[in-house]
Amino acid sequence: STPVATFCALTKAATTGLLIKGGDYLEILAKIKIMAFDKTGTITRGEFSVTDFHSVSHDVGQNNLLYWVSSIESKSSHPMAAALVDYGRSNSIEPKPENVTEYQNFPGEGICGEIDGKKIYVGNRKMATRAGCEIVSNLGKEGDTMGYVFSGATQVGTFSVADTCRSGAAQAINQLKGLRIKTAMLTGDSRNAAMRVQDQLEQAIELVHADLLPQEKVRIINELKKDGPTSMIGDGVNDAPALATADIGISMGISGSALATETGHITLMSNDIGKIPQAIQLARKTRRKVV
Ligand code: ADP
Ligand code: MG
Repeated sequence: STPVATFCALTKAATTGLLIKGGDYLEILAKIKIMAFDKTGTITRGEFSVTDFHSVSHDVGQNNLLYWVSSIESKSSHPMAAALVDYGRSNSIEPKPENVTEYQNFPGEGICGEIDGKKIYVGNRKMATRAGCEIVSNLGKEGDTMGYVFSGATQVGTFSVADTCRSGAAQAINQLKGLRIKTAMLTGDSRNAAMRVQDQLEQAIELVHADLLPQEKVRIINELKKDGPTSMIGDGVNDAPALATADIGISMGISGSALATETGHITLMSNDIGKIPQAIQLARKTRRKVV
């Protein structure tokens, strides 16, 4: 049976917007030594804006490119996708998801689909490799997340998107440090984009790992676990395997994917990651009461 102190703590946590799916997790939370954060949508808002968008092919006009990209991205739930669809609309290009067939999502890489009889790939460098294409043009803003568009075996477009940190992120990370918890960032985004977030946080995070596929996030969680009980917080489908591997998986309940929320042991019912250090303090206090 659940001791009263544990029950009270779970209730208290719930009133602050933190759903802990059982007393056992509260106990493990008290012992956490390492906290790993996903970047996009967790440390950052996951609200991208397009900072650059160019056709790099004489055969494909800007509007045509935008129609392909926004139509294919309209099938994706990735935060970056919404930005590209909005960018299309702001340029009077309405996405046509009904024209997209053979749609496929590659977590940590991008997406592909057939539209108007053409196979189009949208994503990062890993997507280029998958499409068997070389990146010939790399426009876009330094430090932003770079994206590429391929048609068949040639690059037809390049773009960049940018996101900003959540307002409480730096404070939450510094509070965790105060609780003697080591922090890490695990992202599928590029090293450039990861380092820019690290700059915005004034280098608060101890370990930064970029360019990770979902299974590589798992590998790093397993490595971190060798140094002590490890928690991972994330929002995406790409984070779900890492959330399941961590001693405590925490999902972003509001903006996160359903898969992450199902997988996590704790759900954050707000986007306030400042609740994490609070929950650890609560868990530690409760542990002292439960003998
Ligand atoms: P994170 O780990 O930071 O949450 P993801 O694993 O979701 O990042 O994505 C990693 C990278 O994969 C993105 O930065 C982007 O370059 C690429 N990517 C993923 N999904 C898409 C998409 N729908 N469109 C374009 N690029 C994508
Ligand atoms: Mg994410």
